[in-house]
Amino acid sequence: MPPILRLALPSPLRTLFDYRPPAGVPHAALQPGVRLRVPFGRREVVGVLVEVVTHSEVPEAKLKPALELLDSVPPLPPALFKLCLWTAQYYQHSLGDTFSWALPVLLRQGEPAEARQERFWHAATGARADDPRLSRAPRQRDALKTIAQHPQGVAHSLLGQLQLSRDSLDQLLRKGLVRVETRRTHQVRSHQGSWLLQPELPLNQEQRAAFEAIRAGIEGFQAFLLAGVTGSGKTEVYLQLIHQILQAGKQALILIPEINLGPQTLARFEQRFNARIALLHSNINDRERLDAWLAARDGEADIIIGTRSALFTPMKNPGLIILDEEHDASYKQQEGLRYHARDLAIVRARQENLPIVLGSATPSLESLHNAHIGRYALLKLTQRAGGAQAPRFLRLDVKSRPLDSGISGPLQQAMTQTLAAGQQVLVFLNRRGFAPSLLCHDCGWLSQCPRCDARMTLHQRHNELRCHHCGHAERPPLSCPECNRVDLRPVGAGTERAEERLGILFPDFPVLRIDRDSTSRKGSMEQLLGVINRGEPCLLVGTQMLAKGHHFPRVTLVAILDADGGLFSADFRASERMAQLIVQVAGRAGRAEEPGKVIIQTHLADHPLLVQLTEQGYFAFADQALSERRAAGLPPFSHLALLRAEAQKPGQAEDFLDQACSEAEQLLMELGLSGIELLGPVPAPMERRAGRFRAQLLLQGSARAPLHRLMHAWLPRVEQLPGSRSVRWSLDIDPIDLF
Ligand code: ADP
Ligand code: ZN
Ligand code: ZN
Repeated sequence: MPPILRLALPSPLRTLFDYRPPAGVPHAALQPGVRLRVPFGRREVVGVLVEVVTHSEVPEAKLKPALELLDSVPPLPPALFKLCLWTAQYYQHSLGDTFSWALPVLLRQGEPAEARQERFWHAATGARADDPRLSRAPRQRDALKTIAQHPQGVAHSLLGQLQLSRDSLDQLLRKGLVRVETRRTHQVRSHQGSWLLQPELPLNQEQRAAFEAIRAGIEGFQAFLLAGVTGSGKTEVYLQLIHQILQAGKQALILIPEINLGPQTLARFEQRFNARIALLHSNINDRERLDAWLAARDGEADIIIGTRSALFTPMKNPGLIILDEEHDASYKQQEGLRYHARDLAIVRARQENLPIVLGSATPSLESLHNAHIGRYALLKLTQRAGGAQAPRFLRLDVKSRPLDSGISGPLQQAMTQTLAAGQQVLVFLNRRGFAPSLLCHDCGWLSQCPRCDARMTLHQRHNELRCHHCGHAERPPLSCPECNRVDLRPVGAGTERAEERLGILFPDFPVLRIDRDSTSRKGSMEQLLGVINRGEPCLLVGTQMLAKGHHFPRVTLVAILDADGGLFSADFRASERMAQLIVQVAGRAGRAEEPGKVIIQTHLADHPLLVQLTEQGYFAFADQALSERRAAGLPPFSHLALLRAEAQKPGQAEDFLDQACSEAEQLLMELGLSGIELLGPVPAPMERRAGRFRAQLLLQGSARAPLHRLMHAWLPRVEQLPGSRSVRWSLDIDPIDLF
């Protein structure tokens, strides 16, 4: 019997595909993890061999042979292979598609999984330009002279630049006057000398306690939650731990949220270490990504820094994983394979027996809960390292106070004082654009997106109404489309409007806006930061981009224009996000000598969560919020899975989810599972988006195991449902957005 190859292919189908081995390939070469090129439908794709078996369900005559074996050694080390298997299983996702998300693009396309090789042309030993065979070949003679000038050889790709013709070289090769050598384009730089380029700071007491606790556990798996207020010196603790790892001859993987990967972060690592650093983030090209990935895998990079997907970077000698700003929502992928890099990082650390440090000033409620039940060791840094004082919070009740483009009188006074004292003001507002909608004062018409159940935002500078959900944009009407009258007014305030208004209120000071619109051009963020760092009094207005990573030592007043969204929202995570944002934004203030003040405008000044947060700090807030979650049976005290569907016609998505729901109900009985609730199906909170109708079915389980047993049995049935063809659907395990 010839063996059968079971392959994971880049397809959403949650199954393996059977092939016969390619002609002439010995059995021993077929190790799990190698890539093969195979025919798939009308295309050719690259698949990963999962297992070799002797029997297939597919009839013999229908089994196709694989076309080509691409690797002699599996490109993915066993540890990463195992992590991908775990991921696919846990997220109920196609294994082939999981590999597609986890592997560098070029590997998925069949590129060799080894550092780039290139041919180099060298002069042969003893070859001379006055060789009689060249007397009547002046071009070959010149070519040989040029080659001889390069004792390291000339890379094939540089021949053109040196005006060397391929033809002359081939002639020389035939005459034995040059030779070709294939070798790596980048030579491996080996590490030499001390790891440190600058001395380490003496740690303060709290930092030392945290450092020692982690160092004591550095030999095996243990999870640490480093909860340190902004500026408490978490990064310094990371750096000193990494030093330990490097000295032990191991590698460190550092994960950071996308937006934090400014030059600042990288600079701190480069200034500290004489080490080979590999970077993996969204701004590198496919080749650079593969090179960084290979360097990590082959032990040629000591420190690997990257965003979410860098979690899947193999390491030859892994020693430590650090995940900074662990509460950040960008660790959760919101499309395709909906994994959470924090959760997977823990799994990986356990599988590879590594310590892992999750750091944040505002840990997620999930992680705090894990610390409370002893799964993570909690280490706290409560003081700012540089001696700066923590900011003071003030809740400003704006009930029945007039707001001028969102700014109240008392706030305006505080701004005047701060600027007069030569300091900077930061105004936080989580809405881009000029105004969240345009309203007809006569009939109440609102600028609704034609494709979504959402209002369009007025962007005055571009004279456009834009939908932030589907990207639709149009010119604002001159008169009301309903009643034809012309009294159209912007309602609410976005960053553009706040910027405009502040410019009028404070004509003597620059107003700088920092949001996705104002920083989309390359270099514009750096330019804005340059102005801020000069330290002259000014006003910064921005969205949550302001909350992340930057240090604004001259900012002493932080104004949060509207905290209420986080307290009203239907999303149970809204208050957690609001609290994290407030604390993170506040953390930008008064980092140097001058203490900071944070003014929060709200209509709910007595809301218990807001009171806890501002009077007793984030951890008191988190305790309160956790007890509310416990009482309501919400995560982390239960587990969620969300089946989303969308369709062209109204009702279609819900019909499909109805069918799926009946299947689930039936399975609950068949499998005798309890503690699982099916909530829905219901229309999504924003039912229509980009012209499609959306609905969702929420599964809530008091324990994870039965919920996963259910899903495992359920999804194959869902895939077979008659309705599944007319809808787009996806399953989100541990969703963080219920939209
Ligand atoms: P975090 O990562 O918690 O926000 P950082 O590591 O960036 O904090 O530290 C904040 C500031 O304090 C930095 O300027 C850093 O150089 C300084 N710092 C950190 N640890 C110490 C220390 N032990 N002694 C003096 N300064 C420190
Ligand atoms: Zn009208
Ligand atoms: Zn829209």
